[in-house]
Amino acid sequence: MSNVDVHCDNGAVRIIVRERPVRDAQGFEEDSSSVISYLEGTRNVLLADGRPFTFDKVLGPNASQEQLFLDVSFLVEKVKQGYNCTALAYGQTGTGKSYSMGLNSNACDGEFVGIIPRCLREILNTSLNNALESHLRPIELNASFIEIYNEKVFDLLSDKSTDPISSRGYKYTGGTRKVLKSLEDCYSVLLQGNKNRHVRPTKMNSQSSRSHAIFTIHINTFSGNGVLSTRLNLVDLAGSEGVRRTGHQGMAMSEGVNINQGLLSIGKVLQAKALGHKVVPYRDSVLTSVLQDSLNDNSYLTLLACISPHRSDLSETLSTLRFAQSVK
Ligand code: ADP
Repeated sequence: MSNVDVHCDNGAVRIIVRERPVRDAQGFEEDSSSVISYLEGTRNVLLADGRPFTFDKVLGPNASQEQLFLDVSFLVEKVKQGYNCTALAYGQTGTGKSYSMGLNSNACDGEFVGIIPRCLREILNTSLNNALESHLRPIELNASFIEIYNEKVFDLLSDKSTDPISSRGYKYTGGTRKVLKSLEDCYSVLLQGNKNRHVRPTKMNSQSSRSHAIFTIHINTFSGNGVLSTRLNLVDLAGSEGVRRTGHQGMAMSEGVNINQGLLSIGKVLQAKALGHKVVPYRDSVLTSVLQDSLNDNSYLTLLACISPHRSDLSETLSTLRFAQSVK
């Protein structure tokens, strides 16, 4: 039950672009120079091979995880005010979506952890502060962690994570929820979910770049009037490579079609909203159906478009930048 009637102001959609460093965390360097450059004297413009693109925020290869979080943390403010919020990491495989989201964090704290543990830390700090205030407003935090693969939902926190809990046409009723009381809880939920993500039958192994992972922090705030329930969805989308190909020509493999269905569909949903269309095609994919309550006019969204510095990836990079531009 929600006890507030909220409506978003303008600016409910923010687009951030982040360029991955030439050298990755393992020190691997494919090509020493970047095809991305920045216009001197401008803040949020980048040039991809000379072509200019403007976004709400552009983060270069030296931007830290903390800098990224500072640009995302307003979602935590909004979720505390009663809005459902979503951060979506979009881009080609290998451009830093998981790194930025903090999906594979092997620690719960520290300089290199990503958005998920940082958001939780911020929410935990607030809940502590609230408890210290005289008008006690206890907050209950839970996590769910699901994966959408081949238009089916897998509950990564369930003992039966290899069985889909729902698929297209069936209503998704939510996955297992784990109580979050500390950053360590967040870490163990991520650990369990990631482990389950990789115990799929062989066909699905190594397919995590083809699936969407949704880590949700559910926040229940208790007050005299009832319970305010809000959600912060932190989403690592499937790799965007080949979306254009699939969109234009179709693909024989149902897997390819289905996997890209979510990406194509999220693009259509965001574009319909950006253009102010009355009908938004939420039901076209499992991904958009699951996120529907957090992608409506009462919610805030940040799209993090991750791009590669390499010339060999330029056409995917341009495609990602065009996608990011089209949703606002
Ligand atoms: P994706 O999820 O888009 O497939 P990853 O997050 O797995 O990509 O990133 C690919 C590799 O690049 C990983 O080794 C990751 O640690 C590294 N990497 C990505 N972004 C950064 C960054 N901003 N700084 C340092 N290393 C990064």
